[in-house]
Amino acid sequence: MQTIQVKDKTFSLFIPEEKILREVKQVAMQINKDFEGKEPVVLAVLNGSFIFAADLLREVNVPCEISFVKLASYQGVNTTGEIREVIGLNVDLTGRPVIIVEDIVDTGLTMAHMLEELKKQNPASIDICALLLKPGKLQVELDIKYCCLQIPNDFIVGYGLDYDGYGRNTRDIYSLIQN
Ligand code: 5GP
Repeated sequence: MQTIQVKDKTFSLFIPEEKILREVKQVAMQINKDFEGKEPVVLAVLNGSFIFAADLLREVNVPCEISFVKLASYQGVNTTGEIREVIGLNVDLTGRPVIIVEDIVDTGLTMAHMLEELKKQNPASIDICALLLKPGKLQVELDIKYCCLQIPNDFIVGYGLDYDGYGRNTRDIYSLIQN
């Protein structure tokens, strides 16, 4: 299918499933090599990474623990600033090598907050594994060790990524057609 409709927006086919899976497999092979004998904790960031994590981790063959986390934002009671907290973490990260599995890095602010929070637990190391990266949007210095695909600044959906809650359940990735 060359175009799809998600709510009020039209998206065109951007990255077909075969290409995504090829790149995901390559990254999994790198992880297998780098983490041999290390037993990493893999933290998949919900919601967007659920399909990526499932495909990636079925190609990862080193023993690992897998946990699904979310970065929740809320307004503090006593402050005006936004507080961001990692929720759903049920593994002790002390002294463990950690791999964060994220759908897409845009400005990089989400990953920067996540790193800040996770470092408080004194893990042995933290590496970022992103399906997609928009290098043109990055606002912070971020070391992304594993990245499947670099893309332009367009808004995309599919393969786990949503537009207003919809569009996550497609096999391919689609790009917004600007009207
Ligand atoms: P950042 O903090 O790096 O700017 O944004 C990261 C988050 O924004 C991603 O985890 C994702 O949820 C969302 N995001 C960024 N770009 C896109 C995009 O093109 N499409 C979708 N669906 N979400 C995006």
